[in-house]
Amino acid sequence: MPDARYDIVVIGGGIIGLSVAMETTRRFPKLRLLLAEKEDRVARHQSGHNSGVIHSGIYYKPGSLKAKTCVEGSAAMVEFCRQHSIPHQICGKVIVATSEEEFPRMQTLFERGQANGLQGVRMIGPEEIREIEPHCAGIRALVVPSTGITDYATVSEKYAEIITSQGGTVSLNTRVTGFQRSNGETVVETSRGAFSTKYAINCAGLYSDRVSAMAGQTPTAMIVPFRGEYYDLTPERENLVRTLIYPVPDPRFPFLGVHFTRRVRGGVDAGPNAVLAFRREGYTRSSFSLGDTLGTFSYGGFWRMASKHWRTSVGEFYRSFNKNAFVAALQRLVPEVQSADLVPGGAGVRAQALNPDGNLVDDFQFIASQNMLHVYNVPSPAATASLVIGRAIVKMAQDNFGWQ
Ligand SMILES: Cc1cc2nc3c(=O)[nH]c(=O)nc-3n(C[C@H](O)[C@H](O)[C@H](O)COP(=O)(O)OP(=O)(O)OC[C@H]3O[C@@H](n4cnc5c(N)ncnc54)[C@H](O)[C@@H]3O)c2cc1C
Repeated sequence: MPDARYDIVVIGGGIIGLSVAMETTRRFPKLRLLLAEKEDRVARHQSGHNSGVIHSGIYYKPGSLKAKTCVEGSAAMVEFCRQHSIPHQICGKVIVATSEEEFPRMQTLFERGQANGLQGVRMIGPEEIREIEPHCAGIRALVVPSTGITDYATVSEKYAEIITSQGGTVSLNTRVTGFQRSNGETVVETSRGAFSTKYAINCAGLYSDRVSAMAGQTPTAMIVPFRGEYYDLTPERENLVRTLIYPVPDPRFPFLGVHFTRRVRGGVDAGPNAVLAFRREGYTRSSFSLGDTLGTFSYGGFWRMASKHWRTSVGEFYRSFNKNAFVAALQRLVPEVQSADLVPGGAGVRAQALNPDGNLVDDFQFIASQNMLHVYNVPSPAATASLVIGRAIVKMAQDNFGWQ
């Protein structure tokens, strides 16, 4: 069992909690740190169920936290992978327009890329698209050469190894169940006993709002789970895709639209879609939790969002249950792909914060209370940006908690 007294407890062994703990043990080696993770290994949820893309930062509003941390974070991630011999590849990607209606949105992305300081982004026409991706149907594309791929579960395991080597404790199978205040300290109650701590940082991903409520902090937004389902291209048809092929995203949503992604360990994924999930950590269509579903449906913000976006939501459900509809979305990018070329792949569940006014929280969001910090909204590209997000959160902790 871990020691009973700590200076800081980090809740959640996903890539963000691990990055925060790694940075804390590096900068403040004298602080006794415990990271509590409820599963039997790290990166069991979002951090181990994602597309593995090292995003460049082209999508995000200039000046936003996403833009700042992604551009710096992608360079830091590549350097980290290089230093620790973690498989990665800077393969570049194309964002493809298949109709003229998409040109203005593509131009906005191009301008964002320039404003965010990305190198080498350029607009190309159909011939050049075919040189890069011979099977792609685009009539215009943005080439983003700095995009890469890696395996974030492996990155997370390396973060955990470094935390331990720097004197921190990573405690698996340790579910945080409540908090008490006692003698000016916080008692963190867990499935492996109670630990007293001066400070706590909540990085509980899909449960960050619930953990914050346990600590008596009213969450500003609610986490709504959106499942992303993938198909895999069969090995014989992987040659349809050389690198990464993305559509021009709908700016009203934080999701990028189904796309093709080459995996660093081999294979090509198609997806993910974005379907409302009826269980926060539910990876299949039949996953259901009454508590999670009632939680979502009793939240006013959910109905405000649904009234605005019901058409898109119904379309996503239809595509989830109807493979032909999924294939049709992919055929806009690569017309040759057929239903028989795709076999069911994995799935991930995104933790997306939703405001009471029905708007999805667009940017990363961290909130400090008396002696706790809550990481509320860290969707994609947070894995890419994890090293820089970890540094930013530790800086916030230093400022708020007065760490020397
Ligand atoms: C389908 C999909 C595709 C994505 N693609 C990309 C991509 O290509 N590139 C990119 O940069 N980002 C991508 N992302 C986003 C990225 O994966 C996430 O932003 C990132 O992993 C968030 O990390 P996290 O640590 O906040 O959450 P998580 O990895 O979910 O970690 C939270 C942890 O908290 C633990 N926990 C929860 N409650 C408790 C409790 N009470 N006690 C103890 N532990 C608890 C959970 O078990 C979990 O391990 C994708 C996400 C998804 C879902």
